[in-house]
Amino acid sequence: METNTIISGGKVNHQLVHDFSQGLVGDLLLPADQGYHETRKIWNGMIDRHPALIARCKNAQDVIHSVNFAREHNLLLSVRGGGHNITGNAVCEGGIMIDLSLMKSVKVDSEDQIAVVETGATWGDFDAAAQRHGLATTGGVISATGVAGLTLGGGVGWLVRKHGLSCDNLIGAEVVSAEGVLLKASVDENSDLFWGIRGGGGNFGIVTSMKFRMHRVNTVLGGMIIHRRDHAKEVIQFHREFMKTAPEELTLYTGLMTSPDGLPVVAFVGCYTGDLKQGEAVLKPLREFGSPLADLMGPIPYTQMQTLLDAAAPHGNRYYWKSTFVEDLSDKSIDLIISNAAVMPSPFSLVLLEYYGGASSREPEGGTAFPHRLPQFDLVIGSNWVNREEDETHISWTRNFWEAMQPYSSHKVYVNVLGVEGEDRVKEAYGKNYSRLTALKSKYDPNNLFRLNQNIKPVAP
Ligand SMILES: Cc1cc2nc3c(=O)[nH]c(=O)nc-3n(C[C@H](O)[C@H](O)[C@H](O)COP(=O)(O)OP(=O)(O)OC[C@H]3O[C@@H](n4cnc5c(N)ncnc54)[C@H](O)[C@@H]3O)c2cc1C
Repeated sequence: METNTIISGGKVNHQLVHDFSQGLVGDLLLPADQGYHETRKIWNGMIDRHPALIARCKNAQDVIHSVNFAREHNLLLSVRGGGHNITGNAVCEGGIMIDLSLMKSVKVDSEDQIAVVETGATWGDFDAAAQRHGLATTGGVISATGVAGLTLGGGVGWLVRKHGLSCDNLIGAEVVSAEGVLLKASVDENSDLFWGIRGGGGNFGIVTSMKFRMHRVNTVLGGMIIHRRDHAKEVIQFHREFMKTAPEELTLYTGLMTSPDGLPVVAFVGCYTGDLKQGEAVLKPLREFGSPLADLMGPIPYTQMQTLLDAAAPHGNRYYWKSTFVEDLSDKSIDLIISNAAVMPSPFSLVLLEYYGGASSREPEGGTAFPHRLPQFDLVIGSNWVNREEDETHISWTRNFWEAMQPYSSHKVYVNVLGVEGEDRVKEAYGKNYSRLTALKSKYDPNNLFRLNQNIKPVAP
């Protein structure tokens, strides 16, 4: 990559930057500007990078202008949607951060059950607007997560078994290409690009709006059933067996965590969408299992379900995650999960076993860029702590746990929860779709302008 022509020897070319800012409807922030530091900070407090410029875009034209500027001046470019990716790829060091977080409009067509969302919206923004019409689509379980980043990598959440992945519900998008052209992507227009943005992340351009198929969702049966950690083995075994016949209306995770009063616990966290009476019958065995410390499952508004876990992932804490799909959740692998969780060094950390399947397994492996369609458990080891001095302790625990699980791993990983883990892991994330994605990258972004992501390297021309 050639050196950029905006910053040289640590000095910014103010004339060029001024000219650029004149073409933006939104604001341009430099390090001395008010709001710069608030804007460069994201959810993961481990990320402390300083972009030379932050373009706070207000519309697609601003994004085009910023992409053109970055390309013409060889500036490193990052894209911030919700800023909720573990890697912190939303923020670059020294380049231009294209911040979409002011682009939040949500338009809902209640009759046709379609919603069009600007890509700075979070799931909280989107759910609130859609629920005013009694509608929803599969989204993440923490409301501050960005709609765009999550959908571009696949997207799992409480509706995944009933309605498929978020990307399965994407029916159209507008994408600013590396050449600064606003492309439409759907089954009918640029269908190869449309395939790629449903699981291939931000590799092909900057998506400025997304059109989703929506579903009727109102009150759901959801919440947690909490057991003492001593019963973790039976709880996880129950989860494994129960999901073999559970209806698609139910999505269920198990979490190993610490209660606010310091007690190690294990909890079912789940959501049933559909007829509530039938749901009560489905959940009966789950609620009758063992002797829970608390049964907090019941009818709740969908927006409440979508914020239930928010407090577990506060903005600004330090986070380090590793994850893997588990090929075979055997009793031995469960023992290993429990023994590693038992030495979890932070009371804020969390081990999650998420099970998908259902509608998300109906799409073939190559139907979209997201490849992991077999019903299986996803193990997420999520470290969360506050003090910088403890970094090594929590990172080591996470890595050792993940290493220990390797004999049971399917050597596949969900791209949205992948850290900065090297090219082999990126290949595990894109799986069998990797070579098709490489060809697509070479077509849409041959110079790898969009590279701060789980990067698919273009083939040299
Ligand atoms: C607390 C927490 C909970 C989560 N829960 C879930 C969950 O329930 N289900 C799930 O599937 N995932 C979940 N995730 C993972 C989440 O899907 C990814 O981290 C996702 O990348 C976040 O998107 P974002 O827009 O918030 O993040 P950002 O950091 O803003 O974006 C991540 C990357 O996506 C790309 N990107 C973002 N917006 C655009 C755009 N408009 N155009 C092009 N590229 C773009 C960029 O490469 C960027 O670096 C969770 C993450 C966190 C931190």
